[in-house]
Amino acid sequence: MTDSPTTVAPGAAGTIAEDPLLAAARRADAEDELAFVRDRFELPEGTVYLDGNSLGPLPRAVLPAVEDLVRRQWGQDLITSWNVHDWWGLPRRVGDQLAGLMGAAEGQVICGDSTSVQLFQALVAACRLRPGRSVLLTDGASFPTDQYLADSVGRLLGLQVVRLHPSELALHLDERVAAVSFSLVDYRTGELFDAAELTRAAHEAGAVMVWDLCHAVGALPVALDEIEADLAVGCTYKYLNGGPGSPAFLYLAHRHQQQVELPLTGWNGHREPFGLNGSYVPADSIERARIGTPTLLSMAALQAALSAFDGVDLDRLRAKSLALTQQVIDFADQRLAGFGVEVATPRRPELRGSQVSLRMPDAYQVCQALIERGVIGDFRAPDLLRLGFPPMYLSHADVHRGMTTLAEILADGSYHEPRFARRAAVT
Ligand SMILES: *Cc1c(COP(=O)(O)O)cnc(C)c1O
Repeated sequence: MTDSPTTVAPGAAGTIAEDPLLAAARRADAEDELAFVRDRFELPEGTVYLDGNSLGPLPRAVLPAVEDLVRRQWGQDLITSWNVHDWWGLPRRVGDQLAGLMGAAEGQVICGDSTSVQLFQALVAACRLRPGRSVLLTDGASFPTDQYLADSVGRLLGLQVVRLHPSELALHLDERVAAVSFSLVDYRTGELFDAAELTRAAHEAGAVMVWDLCHAVGALPVALDEIEADLAVGCTYKYLNGGPGSPAFLYLAHRHQQQVELPLTGWNGHREPFGLNGSYVPADSIERARIGTPTLLSMAALQAALSAFDGVDLDRLRAKSLALTQQVIDFADQRLAGFGVEVATPRRPELRGSQVSLRMPDAYQVCQALIERGVIGDFRAPDLLRLGFPPMYLSHADVHRGMTTLAEILADGSYHEPRFARRAAVT
């Protein structure tokens, strides 16, 4: 077994020398130009939260905004709030806030519904832009909902759905391919794909590209306009910290907005929603991507949550994210390899999102034992301990504490206790 992380060596003057990895973490924190952002979040005392890639923590701005919406806008101003407080315009306004985090000009993103719904919208719309083509390509390792929806859209439109790894795209592209649907970051391994290169390849074959940004937006810069993306979707409760069940988004490039035919023709997307006509005429802007009445409470929470990004430079955020994940990989190499722990996330920084997945025996039990000691990560079947490192609020000292706790659990074997093997409904 490797040396225990709690081992300390006597220093030259008989003092106790600090763990060199902890010393390095403290130095990195002292130089962290984004350290001020942490104060924009409520983080429970004593917890190291390494699951913000699944559900971001509570930004401080959320509670006052939701309270205002409930007490004053709903409670006092009642239905007049649709105009007085421009509730009607919220999906577009929040969409524009989101656009700024994705390298998109305003007027191309609408907020609402869930990622699953938006993915259905995007896939059908993308395939309808290429009538006569018969194939839809999707990543066979992507999050199940992405694959299930691709299959359903295939059945609905009579298309063949082909699964592949993004690295094999060139082999599958030809004039039969209508659309390609990939996640920018693999939810299990944390592998980051080359959005510009894959989009370019799809376009060269005449196909439409659909990006799922769930594990990318808020964690790293995405340049949707620059790479000439067509459609993109994503959720807002992960790195964007919008809260449980917060609404998703759809990006639809300006150049497609006049001709794209979205399948969910709800009244909010009508050119004249209050004309109350019996037949559907889509709005000629991003508004056509609206469906039904927006979920005002959670959208207002999201709007406030996004203010945590005010003044945060996304390139700097990316640099910090890479420093945090590099720290984890170094720790794992130096102190966890002896426990059979393998780094499943790519080591090359340009291939890495903001998470590190560690492959190990009994990953589920280890994850449960970690949670009991105040370090929250998650488990992805069959053997991954998945740890997220959102750079907005985590420090290098947090990461060190999380990893040290993991080393302790692996060393003392406490994760073998039977209570850690019980599976909850949500893993
Ligand atoms: C988180 C995630 C989703 C979530 O979809 P919901 O409709 O919000 O449940 C979908 N796809 C990917 C790739 C995800 O990471």
